[in-house]
Amino acid sequence: MHNRRDHLWRDILSRVLKDFAQLPEAERRWIAVRLPRIEALQQQLDRLFSAGNGDGTCASCQGACCAHGHNHVTLVNLLSLIQKKKIPPPADFSQTCPFLGVQGCTLTVESRPYNCVTFICDKIEDDLSDQQRERFYQLDQELRACYQEFSLRYRGAALTGLLIREQRHPGESFFNLQPSAEEFSGENCDAIKF
Ligand code: SF4
Repeated sequence: MHNRRDHLWRDILSRVLKDFAQLPEAERRWIAVRLPRIEALQQQLDRLFSAGNGDGTCASCQGACCAHGHNHVTLVNLLSLIQKKKIPPPADFSQTCPFLGVQGCTLTVESRPYNCVTFICDKIEDDLSDQQRERFYQLDQELRACYQEFSLRYRGAALTGLLIREQRHPGESFFNLQPSAEEFSGENCDAIKF
């Protein structure tokens, strides 16, 4: 099974790189003005995660909640790296998550999947103050709106992740526009309301 996922992942990665390089300038700009907001929100969530002793808790549990993480990576996470001319760390699909290394997650906080940066287990949640907990879930909602904006524009940007998307629509470009994409061409994700 992991050989098949590995093959799929390599194919996805090379196609996203190729298709991104061929995107019209307007699309690149659309992406470029939105990614910094996502990255900043992820950093804020991570600071709260650390405030709840997340690093220590995760180190002692060895990433039990990283099981099935192979489906979490989305187009947004790859774009966060590609924009900076970085390539994702090597993916090892024999692990519960291909990005789970001996020191924890090998992805930077900014390019880590939404599911990963917004999940905190009961132990970490208990270590947060009421105010921190409230802020965490507020940031979670803001971040979700930003990811949703990408999924409303690109058919391959759903939160279900790149691997599932590829299995459902093999070979289709992840950058194909949604029919309603033009309705969501505002300046940033702050405009999206639930
Ligand atoms: S991407 Fe990182 S945080 Fe998310 S499941 Fe994989 S190892 Fe865990």
